Amino acid sequence: MALRLRCPRCGTGGILDGWFELKKSCGRCSLSLRDAPEDDEWFGGYFMNLIASESLMIVVVLAYVWWTWPTVQWTRVEVLGIVLTIVLPVVTYPYAKALWVAVEFVFAERALTQSGRRS
Ligand SMILES: [Zn+2]
Repeated sequence: MALRLRCPRCGTGGILDGWFELKKSCGRCSLSLRDAPEDDEWFGGYFMNLIASESLMIVVVLAYVWWTWPTVQWTRVEVLGIVLTIVLPVVTYPYAKALWVAVEFVFAERALTQSGRRS
C-alpha cells in the first residue's frame, strides 16, 4: 500500500499534499497521516529513505560500470553517481514517508490488538 502511496488502513490513494507533504488525514477513513509519528520519529523515515536511495544509486552505478566494461567512461560514472545521489532521495521521499506511516500504523494496530486480548 505504502509503495503505491495509499492509506495503510483503507487503501485509498491520494494521501500526498504536494510531493513533500502527506495530507493531515486520509480523506476516506480519516486516519491521521501527518501527525501519526512524533516529529523526531520521522528521523527513522528520513534515514530509511537515505539508505534505500543511496543503495539504489550504488547498484545503478555498478550496473553501468559492469555494462560498459572494459571501456568505462569514468567521467560519466562520476556524473551519474553525483546526479543520482541528489535526485534519488527526492524521488523516493514520499514513498519513504508513506512507508513510515504504514510501519507506525501496523505497530499501533498490533499494540491495540495485543492490549485488547489481555484485558
Ligand atoms: Zn484511509
